[in-house]
Amino acid sequence: TKNYDVVVIGGGAAGLATIASLLKRQPSLKIALAEPSDQHYYQPGWTLVGGGVFKQASTVKNMADLIPAAVTWYKSAAASFQPELNQVVLQDNSTLSYRALVVAMGLKLDWSAIPGLADNLGQHGVTSNYAPGLAPYTWQLVQQLQQGTAIFTQPPMPIKCAGAPQKAMYLSCDHWLRHHVLKNINVHFCSAGAAIFGVADYVPALQQYVKKYAINLNLQTNLIALDASSQTAYFRQTQADGSSKDIEKHFDMLHVTPPQVAPDVLRQSLLADNAGWMNVFPDTLQHQQWPNVFALGDCANTPNAKTAAAVRKQAPVVAENLIKLLTNKPMQAVYDGYGSCPLTVERGKIVLAEFLYGGKVEPTFPKWLVDGTKPSALSWFLKEKMLPPLYWYAMLKGHEWLATPSYRDDLPQDRHQKNQLK
Ligand code: FAD
Repeated sequence: TKNYDVVVIGGGAAGLATIASLLKRQPSLKIALAEPSDQHYYQPGWTLVGGGVFKQASTVKNMADLIPAAVTWYKSAAASFQPELNQVVLQDNSTLSYRALVVAMGLKLDWSAIPGLADNLGQHGVTSNYAPGLAPYTWQLVQQLQQGTAIFTQPPMPIKCAGAPQKAMYLSCDHWLRHHVLKNINVHFCSAGAAIFGVADYVPALQQYVKKYAINLNLQTNLIALDASSQTAYFRQTQADGSSKDIEKHFDMLHVTPPQVAPDVLRQSLLADNAGWMNVFPDTLQHQQWPNVFALGDCANTPNAKTAAAVRKQAPVVAENLIKLLTNKPMQAVYDGYGSCPLTVERGKIVLAEFLYGGKVEPTFPKWLVDGTKPSALSWFLKEKMLPPLYWYAMLKGHEWLATPSYRDDLPQDRHQKNQLK
């Protein structure tokens, strides 16, 4: 068994941002990271790869180059959590013991939940910007399609970046419109949800683009199976009276957003809530049963939009509170639920959704500069030119621009004890 002050599970956006924020505050911390992947992905870039704006290579870096030298990297996945012993066992059988644990292992893309999907990704016109490395195929399909039917799907919540399924669609439509073929293409948006977007303020702007591109909007319509060789997609549609009806649609291009669930290792552990996610307090991000455990990012059960933008705000909160815990001081930093979803409604324009817990709209910029509810060229500039460097050189390096936590000095410090027997 190796002993560390902090063990971090997952070196994605959340894991690396937290490590950077911890080391910035206390460079002497002994930190171990468990992360099986050689590569680190800037997933928010994949929408622009699928739209032909970014190259895939600009969204990938070597994990080794991003992990600070002071951190011990175990290139292995967490296999089981033993919070009662303050330790984690990895797939390579290493046992890491900790004073505090940070779980940042993201979510599982559940391709196998849709029969016929997993084996056909990347062929027969079946694509997904969610699959690592497949966004270039989306762009290839978009450029090739001259006529026929293009379907874009969205599964039930929760998913990461809830706007991404329709972002892929709008950018595709914009390309087809510019090349005068949109009139020959039947575009369908098939979403399991009851509204096009969860925060009502942004819906009117999106509806205008649905109209502009003549998109067939199919709400409460969930992809359930796929026959790729005949290019047929099967959907279950909830009717007004609550009954359901199965329908099938032919496609020439199908952009699938897969159902998304908690990682298996997490779901099977003592750390999970009933749905399998990390069970943390939504404000402090401390675990509800295990006081020396924290979680952030897509694996947490906090009801925010699962985005890198949320992670940017969460990482400093976890770093602050974790260090307070290790030094026996009261925790004061709170996360307000901020998440952001830059909806790429056309090439060069974005509807910038920004909101807190409960869908409370929270713009970063004054309205005269950027009105988030309207398509904006400045927001596109932000997404294309500013956010990637903000991610690589600020967020992953512990420079907490636009990420200062709020503080409360009246936080109950002992709530986890009341929950311990749950
Ligand atoms: P991830 O970044 O996915 O990292 C999880 C890490 O955990 C991975 O490195 C993985 O290898 C590792 N891991 C998994 N299992 C284990 C294990 N057992 N042990 C150890 N390590 C493990 N966000 C935005 O803010 N704006 C956007 O515009 C946006 N657009 C998006 C578009 C697409 C197509 C996609 C797919 C995502 C988008 N996102 C966007 C969402 C954003 O990418 C995620 O919310 C963010 O990456 C979450 O960070 P994370 O660290 O929780 O998870």
